[in-house]
Amino acid sequence: MQCPKDKGEQLHPITLSGNLAAHQCSACDGTWVSIEDYTSWQQDLPSREIEPVPADLDVGYVPSPKDAQGGLCPDCGSYLARARIGVKPQFYVERCVQCGGIWCDRGEWAVLEQLGLHVAVEHLFTPDWQMRSRDREYADRERRATVEKLGEELAHQVFDLADQLAQHPNGDFGVAYLMRRFEQ
Ligand SMILES: [Zn+2]
Ligand SMILES: [Zn+2]
Repeated sequence: MQCPKDKGEQLHPITLSGNLAAHQCSACDGTWVSIEDYTSWQQDLPSREIEPVPADLDVGYVPSPKDAQGGLCPDCGSYLARARIGVKPQFYVERCVQCGGIWCDRGEWAVLEQLGLHVAVEHLFTPDWQMRSRDREYADRERRATVEKLGEELAHQVFDLADQLAQHPNGDFGVAYLMRRFEQ
């Protein structure tokens, strides 16, 4: 089995997360998990729920230079699709469009594990996940900008008020009042 990123380099067997059978390249330290190994490992997991991660969460690792490089599936030769993980620094996980095997460049699996995303990597490639992650990124960015403009204290009062109005059955009256108040 050949490394998708280094021509002529063979992958050797290793285990990830304790008991997940995988293959690693000695040249680039990337890891390949075949779909058979992944699905049988997933069956023993207690939960496969994942949630979008906070945008710009600093996960403190250095992405592999290979992350920018495309590759072909070591199992079936098909194209590897990319899914962006919007942490700091952002990186891309790869997955075979044909067989579903998973490629992580050096260090990426450990970050997925740290974020709890390693249990359902296939979800990261769905339009629903991509959309929810973008929504989360916009919301986080908007909150940061609000804190910068208003300061921590007032910004949090605004967030609390927004939450209270959202939960109140007549919350829209409060919103309308605020909008009228600032119309001029
Ligand atoms: Zn390699
Ligand atoms: Zn494949």
